[in-house]
Amino acid sequence: MKQKLSFMLILFFLVCIASFAQTKTRDDIAEKYKWNLKDLYSSVEQWQQDVKTIEKRIPELTEFQGKLGESPKNLLTTLQNMFSIYKNYSKLSSYSARLKDQDLGNSENESLAQQASSLGTKLSEAASYFNPEVLKIDSKKMDEFYEAEPKLLEYKIVLDDIQRMSKHTLTESEEKIIASYGLIASNQYDVYGIFTNAELPRETVTLSNGEKVELNSSAYTKYRTTDNRKDRALVFDKFFNNYGKFEKTIGSNLAGHVKGDYVYAKNKKYETALEAALNVNNIPTSVYENLITQINNSLPTLHRFLDLKKKMLGYDTLYYYDLYTSMVEKANMNFNIEEGQEIILKGLKPLGSEYTSILQKGFNERWIDYYPTNGKRSGAYSTGGEYDQHPYILMNWTDDYNSVSTFAHELGHTMHSYLSNKNQPYQSSQYSIFVAEIASTLNENLLNDYMVENAKSDKEKLFILGSYLEMLRGTLFRQTSFAEFEWEIHKKIENGKPLNGEIMSDIYYDIVKRYYGHDKGISVVPEYIKYEWAYIPHFYYNYYVYQYATSIIYATAFYEKIKQDGDAAVQDYFKILKGGSSDYPIALVQKAGVDPMSAEPFKLAMKRMNDVMDKIEEILKK
Ligand SMILES: [Zn+2]
Repeated sequence: MKQKLSFMLILFFLVCIASFAQTKTRDDIAEKYKWNLKDLYSSVEQWQQDVKTIEKRIPELTEFQGKLGESPKNLLTTLQNMFSIYKNYSKLSSYSARLKDQDLGNSENESLAQQASSLGTKLSEAASYFNPEVLKIDSKKMDEFYEAEPKLLEYKIVLDDIQRMSKHTLTESEEKIIASYGLIASNQYDVYGIFTNAELPRETVTLSNGEKVELNSSAYTKYRTTDNRKDRALVFDKFFNNYGKFEKTIGSNLAGHVKGDYVYAKNKKYETALEAALNVNNIPTSVYENLITQINNSLPTLHRFLDLKKKMLGYDTLYYYDLYTSMVEKANMNFNIEEGQEIILKGLKPLGSEYTSILQKGFNERWIDYYPTNGKRSGAYSTGGEYDQHPYILMNWTDDYNSVSTFAHELGHTMHSYLSNKNQPYQSSQYSIFVAEIASTLNENLLNDYMVENAKSDKEKLFILGSYLEMLRGTLFRQTSFAEFEWEIHKKIENGKPLNGEIMSDIYYDIVKRYYGHDKGISVVPEYIKYEWAYIPHFYYNYYVYQYATSIIYATAFYEKIKQDGDAAVQDYFKILKGGSSDYPIALVQKAGVDPMSAEPFKLAMKRMNDVMDKIEEILKK
């Protein structure tokens, strides 16, 4: 249960985009543009009452500790109490978190959030005996329990999820030893973070306009997009060669992390670290393997994009340092909130009236906090744990197209949560991170279509289509290349081969050259790019990045199916939105009509990317 609770807490924050300047205070903003937290609690006093109520209920969690396996009734009562407390706690922690995020400088709100968090810790601690004890009930006995107490079947998915770990659960004292290593589990990640953020000496470059710039990460991300090609080349060269000077140190550190993954996996009786990481969400390793294979088969589509970009930029040769500069001119489009809402309602119309009427309800009933204000958290997110109420969205609306597409994205999360909450019992309402970005990305796809169809000029059309392609390059291909690198370095250790910074650079360079068609004359990848791996913190996340790619592929596949088959495909797609965690993520995606093990979703995603390129070429021909 501990795992389940922390998983729910993570889902409260599907944080997405960047930050904006804030000038207004909350009092300057009309009520209708602020979220209405009274749907959760009428006052802080009422919230405090609820804290007390939950605290009083903590003993219910441990009432049958040591006796869960004695009777189905003990197990059922504990599950019922547990999820009823968690449901209440989710609402409670949402309230204090929203208050905190609307004004991060407010110390009263901060202390409420801390109060909620320490209550959460108490709940986790009280329930920590639950999983190990359920694991001790063998499957034969569990079947007898279901027979004797059919209400237990309502929790079968939860119990199965715990019991499928039995193969990977050791004796109590062994588990204790493994758990004790948790203390040093994040060492390499911490060292990497401190070194690259604070201690890594940075190069200073002089740009064409005479400006001197110290090349830290944020300067790099800023200047890699500059229109001045000479500056880009300079920035890339200095930035990555600087990482190259520390290839051995960063490499040894990352190798340490990979070895840690391996030792953990081996001790927990997994074949590989990949299997151990994916098993958390019950994802078979074949999904990962299929992603790498299919994306490698899809490289001709990436190469077509690179050729198109080269042509649009007017170059004879495309270099890796040209990748971040936009292939299209920025079109300045302005949208106020009402206009944004209207476009989204029209753009998401293919999802049907059930979908859009809930959106309208959310707009009318103030689920959304729109404007940036002093002290408000930057970026955007959607919540989802308010089971009997509704999700909330935090936005930082700046009247541009990015605001509209971010809003459509967050509304995807909101609808997924809302529909799962309405259609699932609480214990299976919270969906897995593996499927989380499908609903959001699908909305972005639909919005894109609508915007292109209704664009006022070819310039606007090109801007939307071009930005979409750049996003696919970055999310689909780049993240898969990361996933491939991560897998390769783990395989070295798992096969007893040496691994160090130099070997990592060779592996990385080979992958990037292959993806970007270096040997085919598609683009030129300068040698210093072999050090790029040293700049990516995600390699310490233990097989996380592949999900960026899979989400976008499945979402694009759903989009294509909806475009081709209309309402029938929409109804299938709703099986994900309404499914919560009623089944494992892969099974849910399959039920909804897309098979992650097959080539189909990849073919559909590539079809979409090629269609967009066809459209761009048509416009360019004019
Ligand atoms: Zn998202």
